This record gives sequence, C-alpha cells and structure tokens, in this order.
Amino acid sequence: MSLSKPRPSELRRRFRVAYPDARCALDHVDPFQLVVATILSAQCTDARVNLTTPALFARFPDAASLAEAPLVELEALIRSTGFYHNKARNLVGLGQALMARHDGLVPSDPKALGALPGVGQKTANVVLANAFGVPALAVDTHIFRVARRLGLSKATTPEKVEADLCDLFPREDWIELHHQLIFHGRRVCDARRPDCAACPLLDLCPTGLGKMKDPHSGVKFAPAPEGLRPSGVKERGGSEMALHPQSLASFGGRLGPPSPAPSHGQGAPQRIISLVPSVTELLVQWGLAARLVGRTRYCIEPRWIRNSVPTVGGTKDPDFDRIRDLAPDLVLLEKDENPKAAAEVLTTLGIPWLALEIRTVKDCAMALRQLGARMHASEVAEARAIGLEAMLKRRRRKGPRTLALIWRDPWMSAGPDTYVGDLLRQGGLTPIGPDRYPVLSDEALVALAPQLILLPTEPYRFSRRHQVELQKRFPDAEVRLVDGQALTWYLSRTEAGLDLVRSLA
Ligand code: SF4
Repeated sequence: MSLSKPRPSELRRRFRVAYPDARCALDHVDPFQLVVATILSAQCTDARVNLTTPALFARFPDAASLAEAPLVELEALIRSTGFYHNKARNLVGLGQALMARHDGLVPSDPKALGALPGVGQKTANVVLANAFGVPALAVDTHIFRVARRLGLSKATTPEKVEADLCDLFPREDWIELHHQLIFHGRRVCDARRPDCAACPLLDLCPTGLGKMKDPHSGVKFAPAPEGLRPSGVKERGGSEMALHPQSLASFGGRLGPPSPAPSHGQGAPQRIISLVPSVTELLVQWGLAARLVGRTRYCIEPRWIRNSVPTVGGTKDPDFDRIRDLAPDLVLLEKDENPKAAAEVLTTLGIPWLALEIRTVKDCAMALRQLGARMHASEVAEARAIGLEAMLKRRRRKGPRTLALIWRDPWMSAGPDTYVGDLLRQGGLTPIGPDRYPVLSDEALVALAPQLILLPTEPYRFSRRHQVELQKRFPDAEVRLVDGQALTWYLSRTEAGLDLVRSLA
C-alpha cells in the first residue's frame, strides 16, 4: 500500500505551535563547549551531560588544557556519561587536534570539523547548526524514529533519513526542525509508549492511525474504534495556572471534600476522565468508551485506548492543566489509588468528581451501583453487582497463611485490610501481615511465617527469578507468580481475581 506523506508545510506549522520553545538541550557557551558536550552525549541523556560538564569545563576550559588532560582525571570527571574510556581518549585527541591544526579554535568548515577525533557526521551537524548557524539536520535516535513513524522516510540508516528530511524541508528550516523533532520524540512520540492520542500530528501520521506498522517496534497500532478519537483536545501551552502538586497525600481513608453534586435530573456525563486503571477498563466493558476523554498513563487496558484516549499524567501526579484543557464533566478517582489533594484541586477548578472507596470485595458491589447510577448505566451495573454478590455467597475455608507482596526493594505487602487482602479472604486464603501497604524488612518477612507467598506481575514486575530466589529463602512455603491485574484490579477484574484466588486455595 502506498501512503501519502504528511505535507511538510503543515508539519512545520504544527511543530511551531506545539514546540515554540524547541532549542539545543546541551548547555554550552561557545563552540568548544558544544563539541565536547555533544561527544559526551553519545549513548547518554542530555540532562546527564549537563550535570557533568560544569565540573569538566571548570577544570579543562579550553582546547589547550584538554590536550594535556591526564586520562585518569578526565575519565573520573566524565564517568557518569558512560563509555568514558573512549570518550576521554577522544576528548584529549580533540584538544590536541584543535591545538595542532586550528589554533585551539573549533573550525566552522564541515570537512575540517568532521575530521576531528570523536566527531562524526551527527556531532559535526549539531555543532555547525547550533554554534555557527549553518543549516544542518543531524539525525539522532528521536529524529530517526519520529521521521519513520510519520512516513517521512523509509530509510534504515540515520544518514539516509537525514538525506530524505533535507530533501523534504527547505534549508532554512533545518535547524529549528531538528530541535522540534527531538522535542516531539522526547515528549510525545516515545520509543515504547508513543502518546498518539495526545499527539498534535495524529491525523497526519500513518503509524498513529494504524495505517502501517510502527517501523520502530514492528507492531501495528490499533486504530481507535469509530467515534472514539478525542474531539476536544486543545493545543498545549498558554495556560495561566500551573497546577502540579508534587507530593500529594492519599485520601488515607478519610472522606475528601464533597464533589459538586449533580443536580436532580442531570444527564449522564459525556466527557469522563478516569484516574483509575481498572475503572477505565470497566467503563469500556460497559460500552461507555466513547465518553472517555482522558486517562492516566497507567490506564492501559484495553490496549487500543492507549492510542485513542489522551493521557493526563499518572495516578498520583495527575496533570491538572491537561485535565482542565480536556473540559471533563466528571473525573473518577479512588481513595487509595489517587491523592486526596487531586479531589481538592478539581473542586477548586470547578470540575465534578466522584471518588470510590474500595477496601473489600463487597465494596465493589456498592461501587458498581454507585458508578452505574452516575453513568446512567444502572442496568448493566446491577447485573454485575448481583453476579459478584452471588460469588461471595459460597462458603469460605480458612486456607493457608498468605502473604501478597506488591513491591521489592523494599519489600511491601498488601495487608489484610486492603482490597487484595479481602480478595484473598473471600477466595479462601488467610491474608497475613500488617494492615495497609507496609514496608517489611527481611526479618519481618521471616517472622510472618507465610505458608503461601504471592508474587503478582504488577505493580512490581515480579518474575520467575524472584520466585526462585524467595523459594530458596522460604523452602517450607509455596511461592507463586500470579496475574497482577487479576489480583489487584478491582471492579473490572474482581470476578477473575476471585477465580484466581480460589484456584490457589
Ligand atoms: S501519532 Fe503517534 S506515532 Fe505518530 S508521531 Fe504522533 S505519537 Fe508518534
């Protein structure tokens, strides 16, 4: 299938709106500092390089001092940037070459620049563009990925992608475009998790639209089902209020401030943001996906919503500017999952919210009815709640003493008074350990004398390696790897969780 490329002029327009602040991310004051910083940035983040260079330039401020730098001292200064043996040798060679051939100055001639030790085509282009204003378009890992996803190049080497981009875009745009493509790759078009739903280029992008396989991963993104593409996403930037609480306490079991109450006869919410992964999945199960206009980055089920519903930060640190931009008529929270201050900020912004509180399996039945009523989906909610209650009527046994670990380094468990604890109890196991989500020392683990240890695959990604390790330390206990979503995702997977626990009991 031949796919038409997005129009370069349209791409440029959108990039300018989305990234007006795009610039070189490596701190430098002159061409010498830039060439050194760019050499250090190979296989390293720009942020790490920026942390390294102040001490480096204080000790070796110019080509003359770098030419005579003792290797061991230089290596110690740049060690954190990785590959420091090679980089140190190249830097000394660079200093010597600059002194021998260019009077200690960095040349602005591409050929002379490219002939310096440690300076490949990419480094030369970065220096030419940013230090001397010479149009160049160095292709790094971000540009390589973004250009291919956007269908701007099918080439498989950075050099050929660079040639394709230079053919497509006018020379005067190369420098700015270089920075904008990098910003886009870092902020939106992530290697593993591109945020296509929030991408200002989605309608132009054959990969995001699922028209071709992602050239980066080889996977075809699922296109959003008909009518699900968000319609109210505004462009970022220009907001008057920055609302990013950095450290928000959880509800901690206390009731949050009252949500603005729905007026009598109010219609069903049509623009819902869910800050709870399992509630997001539940709404989709109820056929309400078209009303979802936002989710946290942890709301990843069903898979296709990753490409169709925009993200609004994490469960603990939601991006309130983004939430406000999406103009929701309801935000869904859960008191353990989300911080109490999230509800307070939403109240300040005048955005209606509903906070569920789920500590037991029985709470799930109540929450289903509560959600059903608010969503005007009482019928489907009631059927689910009745089915769940029927599952709870089965006689329970008092099964093995079970420790459900949820984290490692430090060890943390889900206590008997949590949803997971109650799920174990309802399924016929005996949850042990302190209440809530305690940190446990090695000694405390041993003192609990578990008969069964559960290692869920999330939130910590426990694996077979951890299972083997713990089994050695607890030879008398049974250590089981279990499906983390079944064990911890209430509402959408409670029935699956009960089945899982019963199979273990
Ligand atoms: S739509 Fe997705 S794949 Fe395409 S550029 Fe945007 S984030 Fe990248």
